[in-house]
Amino acid sequence: MPTYASALQLHQAILSGQTTAVQALDETYARIDATEPVLNAYNSLCKALAYEAAKTVDAKVAAGESLPLLAGVPVAIKDNLNLTGTPTTCSSKMLGNESYVSPYNATVCDRLNAHLMPIVGKTNLDEFAMGSSTENSAFGPSKNPWDPARVPGGSSGGAAATVASRQVLLSLGSDTGGSIRQPAALCGVVGIKPTYGLVSRYGLVAFASSLDQIGPFAVDVEDAAALLEVLAGYDPMDSTSHKALAQAPEQTRYSEQLAQLSKTSLAGVRIGVIQELSGEQAQGFDPEVMAAFEASIAQLKALGADIKTVSVPSVKYGVAAYYIVAPAEASSNLARYDGLRYGLREPGAQDLGSLFKKTRAAGFGPEVKRRIMLGTFALSAGYYDAYYGKAQRVRQLLRHEFNQAWQQVDALICPTSPCTAFKFGEKSSDPLQMYLSDVATIPVNLAGIPALSVPCGFDANHMPIGLQIQGPHWSELKLLQIARAYEHAAGFKGKQPNLDALKTPANV
Ligand code: GLN
Repeated sequence: MPTYASALQLHQAILSGQTTAVQALDETYARIDATEPVLNAYNSLCKALAYEAAKTVDAKVAAGESLPLLAGVPVAIKDNLNLTGTPTTCSSKMLGNESYVSPYNATVCDRLNAHLMPIVGKTNLDEFAMGSSTENSAFGPSKNPWDPARVPGGSSGGAAATVASRQVLLSLGSDTGGSIRQPAALCGVVGIKPTYGLVSRYGLVAFASSLDQIGPFAVDVEDAAALLEVLAGYDPMDSTSHKALAQAPEQTRYSEQLAQLSKTSLAGVRIGVIQELSGEQAQGFDPEVMAAFEASIAQLKALGADIKTVSVPSVKYGVAAYYIVAPAEASSNLARYDGLRYGLREPGAQDLGSLFKKTRAAGFGPEVKRRIMLGTFALSAGYYDAYYGKAQRVRQLLRHEFNQAWQQVDALICPTSPCTAFKFGEKSSDPLQMYLSDVATIPVNLAGIPALSVPCGFDANHMPIGLQIQGPHWSELKLLQIARAYEHAAGFKGKQPNLDALKTPANV
């Protein structure tokens, strides 16, 4: 049933009166109804709010008023983003059962509202965004639209699955160590982790605050650029928001700027292949992933890019450093779930201490508990310097090495994920195996730089493969330019799974 191949096309159709925002929303909910029993992409829907926005759009179109970018295009948001009056669960029992209803909007939601984009619902994730498969969700995993026996990736698995299945054409995820790019790769869509500070984190439930960024999922690069433009900008409510954006808002007009750039040539663009994540050194990477990656290098060359190999030696320490820094920050951020202030309160406590213990034991799942214990240990007196201090030094080294790389190249590439979508249960019994799914994405968060994943092929099971393109701070436009040229030439743009297979018998 999806009538429009892209969000920008749908937006144009609404502006020109070919369809209405209400009709687009009706069709969106019909698609969600038809495929949601299989996919489980959503934790909740917010129909009343969405229809309000859609009606406003239609009234403005009828009145001949001008409308902002992407107005009328339905969008889904990850269920760790606050939207006034809606339950925010983070896929945790701690906040489930409507025990927490957002009293305010995340800044990104204000921005979606300002652009009159109907927010259709909140998507499933690994509990508190900790995981790579959505198997850590307290509400059951989301399924990969290409094969529902496989994971969609994570933690923003629901947000990736809803776009891959064309329930919606756009969604928002959050990326702390790969949670937008890895599910984008596994679901065959585009996903962007912006430069730290480009998109406000205000109203995003904090996991690891020095690493978290919100970003878009889309079916193609131009759509992703448009949604990033809606999200980006200075916000005084986030102390890590980049102030310079306030002085030069035109910097983030990606759609307009992209329109000025060539779609067919990358002449003069210098691209580095990360030595440690390619060729012989890419240990643990599927051969089929590496073959698709090699083919994408050839494609970029054919587009005129200047390709060389660049060493970023410390990427191999990224996972180790991340699993100190991220749990350390998480142990502090998650201390607020104490049974008093938010969500769940377990009955039967004798005193304050037992209230904390009972609530936290009942409310958090095993992965979240593991992270809190890891983080608390890493920060404890006597160990702080050996663990946290050392991880911070690795982080610094990694930043330095990336900065060296930018002396030689405009962007760096590697596969987004070492493997394609795996079957449920395949990695969930071995946390270390799961942690390694982010070996190629984590260094980007540690350095605070931007990166995106764009589809670059399929394996023998017809599971999608993603190419990751990374660049210096604030190089989003360059990354979009490279990705769009690649996407046009490579022939994987807009590929979608067999949507009929996702419909439950009652809905066919
Ligand atoms: N998979 C990584 C983790 O489990 C990254 C998660 C994320 O980016 N939110 O921590």
